[in-house]
Amino acid sequence: MVEDARTKCSYCGEPATLKCGGCKIDVYCGTDCQKLDWASHKTTCKEISLERTIERCADTLQRAYLDFREITYDSPIAKVEVKNDRIYIYDGPISMRKNGIFADFPNHLITERSVKMAVLCFLMCNEPIALFAKLLSTLLTHLKLKIEEVSVSLQNVPRKTIVVYPNGYEHHNFPGHKHEIFCVTSVKSGKKWAIDLAGGQYGLCQPCWRWEEYEKRYVEEVITVHLLGTNETYVKACSQVEGTPSLTRPSTQDAASHLKAAFHKWVETLPAGLPKMLILDDEKFKYHQDCLLKDVNAAVRKFVDNSNYTTEARKAARYERDNPGVSSQRLQDIRNALFQRGYDSSPRSTAMSMLSNLADGGGDLNLDLEEMEIWLSAGLRG
Ligand SMILES: [Zn+2]
Ligand SMILES: [Zn+2]
Repeated sequence: MVEDARTKCSYCGEPATLKCGGCKIDVYCGTDCQKLDWASHKTTCKEISLERTIERCADTLQRAYLDFREITYDSPIAKVEVKNDRIYIYDGPISMRKNGIFADFPNHLITERSVKMAVLCFLMCNEPIALFAKLLSTLLTHLKLKIEEVSVSLQNVPRKTIVVYPNGYEHHNFPGHKHEIFCVTSVKSGKKWAIDLAGGQYGLCQPCWRWEEYEKRYVEEVITVHLLGTNETYVKACSQVEGTPSLTRPSTQDAASHLKAAFHKWVETLPAGLPKMLILDDEKFKYHQDCLLKDVNAAVRKFVDNSNYTTEARKAARYERDNPGVSSQRLQDIRNALFQRGYDSSPRSTAMSMLSNLADGGGDLNLDLEEMEIWLSAGLRG
């Protein structure tokens, strides 16, 4: 954030206190000077306010996701250890679970915020993309931006995260470091930003980056670029697979519907609706952001406290015992069908480019998702 120290009119140089409502950086002595300066100030002003809007959006969604994940947490954890650049998360017995699926997040084992983020985000990069694709598109719809979902492999990351199961088996988030992020491109200027909501597991805790900087520092390869909504389709499809590996998905999907409903209320019905929030002064924005997150979190918390997945958990465990490996294979099939190739090079390219145009023009995203689900089931059959 830029520290504002300007006290002189950007046009005439006289003492001034009125801040430009767009960039909130330049100051004017009055509207006359602002009008006269507009022709030369316009471009910078719009660029600054665009970037700030994207940053605030990313920050809000990251905070919302971390809170959501904490409230719906589902891994019983016995111990967390930080050794140099590595975080070891030791899974505890499933008897630590409550309501069949949820587990208290182990705040008593963690002191540092970045470690907490790593534990919350471990192998979860699809989920926030799935949760927030539609919302992100709604919030930024008036800004002429292209939003895509991008699979990247990372390198030189500050941190690695490892889960150690009770039987000693280690699950790493590396090598490979395959990661899902949003890429936001200004149609007008071509400027790009990376929105990384689950980067905490790699020590990348900042939610919004200039694309070039993110790419230069951490991206080994951009693997594929996907149409907005791909991760949502993936997570939905996974939630319908029977068996233990996907057990967490239906409960998360249920919780997600409460999160989305709470967000929706803020987008449209409250006086300080979410799109308007994004252009407020810093202090007001932070206040409203806190209120928003409090509301959203309360809705999710209420759902989690009142739900019980014990029956589903038992059923899934039985299915897994009777059909070993079947559900993991199905999840892998879904993943391959959706992620192996990006939308530019895929066999569905004609349909996809049509849908992509729709999405670019702020078209109906529901339609996109429906179409994609049809494509997905066809792909699995073939
Ligand atoms: Zn002036
Ligand atoms: Zn301005």
